[in-house]
Amino acid sequence: MSFEKLGLSEATLVAVRKKGFSKPTDIQREVIPLLMSGKRDLIGQSQTGTGKTAAFALPIIETVDPKVKSVQAMIITPTRELALQVADEIKSLRGEKRIYVYAIYGGQPIGPQIKALSKGVHVIVGTPGRILDHIRRGTLKLDDVKFFVLDEADRMLDMGFQEDIEAIFKELPEEKKTLMFSATMPMDVLLLAKKYMKDPEIVIV
Ligand code: AMP
Repeated sequence: MSFEKLGLSEATLVAVRKKGFSKPTDIQREVIPLLMSGKRDLIGQSQTGTGKTAAFALPIIETVDPKVKSVQAMIITPTRELALQVADEIKSLRGEKRIYVYAIYGGQPIGPQIKALSKGVHVIVGTPGRILDHIRRGTLKLDDVKFFVLDEADRMLDMGFQEDIEAIFKELPEEKKTLMFSATMPMDVLLLAKKYMKDPEIVIV
């Protein structure tokens, strides 16, 4: 199957070709059409290296309206390295669309982050603690979030982010797609999904 069959726009297909992807990976074949059609929460069990980032990045790129100057998608990751990696993958796939992607994580001065957020960012990628910090300061507004992605959920819970993640969930709008990706599905991950996701589709690759 080819990328052309997944419901993506021509502009995004051009960006995908430019990136050098010739055909979708298994998780992309499953996840992209689901996200491109209707509202649906989704749990994906997949390792890194399977192309899971592009699986959620491409539907996010399709959905974000660059004219609306607010955060429309947010991805949380366990580490700063992963946040930067995910942000770079989204930037490399956005093509000509003027989507602003910004990574926020701890261990960095907060001032420049506040300044960047105030300018209008469409997609936020970051670690749970610092994201929560910005929410509490009122420097990160989530009213327009349509996609919320938990990347490497098992690792985030192992690292003790459960409370922060639950606090973030409570600040998000009701109407959104929640996507959870995890290499393993231990009980704490499943319980989190049960508590905050609506009838999720499960994709295992
Ligand atoms: P990920 O599993 O998201 O960390 O992706 C692993 C690597 O595979 C990244 O370098 C991606 O850019 C690359 N990749 C993702 N999707 C494809 C694809 N359809 N064809 C070739 N490479 C891909």
